[in-house]
Amino acid sequence: MSNPLTRSAEHPPFDEFDAAHIAPAVDTLLAEGGATLASLEQALPSDWAGLMVPIQALEDRLDRIVSVMRLMNSVRNHTAWREAVEVQQPRLIAFRIRVRQSQVLYRAMKALEAAGGLSGTQQRILQSALRNAEHNGVHLDEEAQARLNVLAEQLSALQMRFGNNVLDSVQAWSLTITDPARLVGLPDRWRSAAAARARAAGHDGATAVDGPWVVTLDHPCTMPVFQHAGDRALREEVRRARGRIATTAPHDNSPIITEILAIRAEMAAILGYTDYPDKALASRMAGSVDEIEQMMRSLHDQARPGALDDHTELNRFAAAAGHPTPLQAWDTTYWSERLREERFALRDEDIRPYFALDNVLTALFGVCRALFGVEIVPAAAPPPTWHPDVRVYTVHDPGTPEPRATIYLDPYVRPADKRSGAWMTPMINRSGDRRPVAVIACNLPAPTDEAPCLPGLRGARTMFHEFGHALQHVLTEIQEVAAAGIQNVEWDAVELPSTFMENWLYHQPVLAQIAHHHETGEPIEPAVLDRIREVRRFQAASGILAQVSYALQDLAVHQAAQQEDPFAVALAIREKIAITPLIDGDSTLCSFQHIFAGAYAAGYYSYLWAEVLSADAFMAFEEGGLDDSAAVSHLGRRFRETVLARGGSQHPLAVFEDFRGRPPSPEALLRLHGIAG
Ligand code: ZN
Repeated sequence: MSNPLTRSAEHPPFDEFDAAHIAPAVDTLLAEGGATLASLEQALPSDWAGLMVPIQALEDRLDRIVSVMRLMNSVRNHTAWREAVEVQQPRLIAFRIRVRQSQVLYRAMKALEAAGGLSGTQQRILQSALRNAEHNGVHLDEEAQARLNVLAEQLSALQMRFGNNVLDSVQAWSLTITDPARLVGLPDRWRSAAAARARAAGHDGATAVDGPWVVTLDHPCTMPVFQHAGDRALREEVRRARGRIATTAPHDNSPIITEILAIRAEMAAILGYTDYPDKALASRMAGSVDEIEQMMRSLHDQARPGALDDHTELNRFAAAAGHPTPLQAWDTTYWSERLREERFALRDEDIRPYFALDNVLTALFGVCRALFGVEIVPAAAPPPTWHPDVRVYTVHDPGTPEPRATIYLDPYVRPADKRSGAWMTPMINRSGDRRPVAVIACNLPAPTDEAPCLPGLRGARTMFHEFGHALQHVLTEIQEVAAAGIQNVEWDAVELPSTFMENWLYHQPVLAQIAHHHETGEPIEPAVLDRIREVRRFQAASGILAQVSYALQDLAVHQAAQQEDPFAVALAIREKIAITPLIDGDSTLCSFQHIFAGAYAAGYYSYLWAEVLSADAFMAFEEGGLDDSAAVSHLGRRFRETVLARGGSQHPLAVFEDFRGRPPSPEALLRLHGIAG
């Protein structure tokens, strides 16, 4: 029987994957890849088909196994997977670097570029390949190249350790509560989940009503505590614990952060860049750190007065209710929630029964049909998955017999073996006629005996967001694998389709379609629906400030000189921007996985950047008339044909301008949040 990790199949055989397959699969891939590389270096083909097609195919095989390994490590976090990935990933990276550092191939690609006659897509792929080669030091002497290789391997291992430390640190903390008085305000659903965790921890017979209850640091558990726990001391204890994730031995990320920053700075210097952001921006949509800081400053300046007003109002509101002020970090979410309840009479917990996952998906798929003309349906013959909760969907163009793509959805939280957060993994990329496969994983609350999965408004938004990513992956029209889907899309443009889709959740008819009570089927009251749409603007300015703070911290720690303390650098920015007093010993950096374990190093700004793009794109639909189905369909098709279809085959600014007819403007984002205009 062949190794399931190297077998090419329309759907990966997820049910057969075992950590023991990784080592032999990597052996096979590296042997085959080595042979391909050797024959290319010898034959030195001078045309696209001879040179670039096999290089893309080789990279694609590597991408595929890396995607599988990362996914399995994220959704089945067992020691065996983790150890295998830790050992094998560096071997794959080393090989990829060998390809990129091939001087023979580099010269051949340079010659191909000089010869001209390539399509726009081919030119973009070639430019990226040349830049990748240069970023791997192909043009440097042997000693510098060797040093880069060592640093790249160290960096990869450190990033993985960073992520594992966060996971382990979250798992290492728990709080067992036996006094029901401490749970005042917390919803029944939270109590049931906390009792279930207590049973899993050995408290046989724990119940939602009588406890004991176990609090953990994963987001679905802590968020309701911050929003609803009337016990201020409980909120403080949990908030302080969250701020200390991965800050102490044996899961301390502080030394890892220093090492990661030093390695990134040294790599940038070897390649002739001023600093790490300078290198990172060489392959981004944004032109320079100045350009980004200018946008962040402009958003900050326009949002700050509103955020200050929010803060004053919140303190007054809490004081009037007899709560001590000034409000602390563990109070603001709680009092925002109370103020929101008073002003909008919308309690998350009251709305939640109206947001069942199945309704969310039905409405989301309806939006996809209306805008993009695609059908997303449960797979007629579902392929095997890695967990019984995983759902499989196929994506169809009407009038064509075969699906064009597959999307897996792993919806529910599994703290014991699933990484927190939500993400989309491009599992199989389109290549020629090969159908793309996407995987979406989230941490929505699991169904209980009493209720189906009720993701609430927040979880609904996550679904729209992640499907936005998946749509760009599966609706690509690019046949060259290296520019298909989200491949080769600049990192700061990659959140455009996802945040664009979020806007559709708030479109009145879409919300109305979703919001039916899961037990009675009753629609939510129209007045409530209106308030749900209005509440989106509630304290939006404060939200923008928080994002600006993260974005600037990320850039600043990456620009800081070696002798500077990154924690002090980050703290200085937080102190300047934060309105609520900071907590002593609170670290945003130690659990800032986006920039230290993920792909957003010197790139966190891209969330706001992409929101500017997506708000502006959505504004096009508002201008065309959101209730005019012909206009929506017309613009939706144009969005599909540009942003979703062209992927990384063109510069994102050109793609955006083709859709919008002009460059993006930040005004739409501020208007969408009710801040300006
Ligand atoms: Zn995203």
